[in-house]
Amino acid sequence: MHTELPLPDFPGPDAAPAHAAPESTEVPDFLPADFRAPSRQDVSGFMMRWDLPLVIDGEVHQCHCGAYRNWIVFNMRDDSVWLRCEAGHEAKESRLDTAWYNRNSGPVDHFHPTLDEGLRHLGH
Ligand SMILES: [Zn+2]
Repeated sequence: MHTELPLPDFPGPDAAPAHAAPESTEVPDFLPADFRAPSRQDVSGFMMRWDLPLVIDGEVHQCHCGAYRNWIVFNMRDDSVWLRCEAGHEAKESRLDTAWYNRNSGPVDHFHPTLDEGLRHLGH
């Protein structure tokens, strides 16, 4: 014995219409915290490692102690750039500024509540 049931020619209330998919590609209007760059007003400054010799105006920059690499570079709120050598000597470098820093630094990936913590994170 063989019985044929008629197929419904309309989708039930639970069937998702096939053309609804594009809505899922909508970009949410918030970003994960990791993607949110801090604004300049939120922090006292930025810092990064600079392991290579630092060339300024065509010359390898050197600390008065003789260090010429493994710097920490700071970019402060007032647009000044400071260099810190491995031995902890810090000096303002007036030939560098925020524009230089932004050209040479990667995206901000860490927040440090204190300077010491930032230095530890960067290996100093
Ligand atoms: Zn030094």
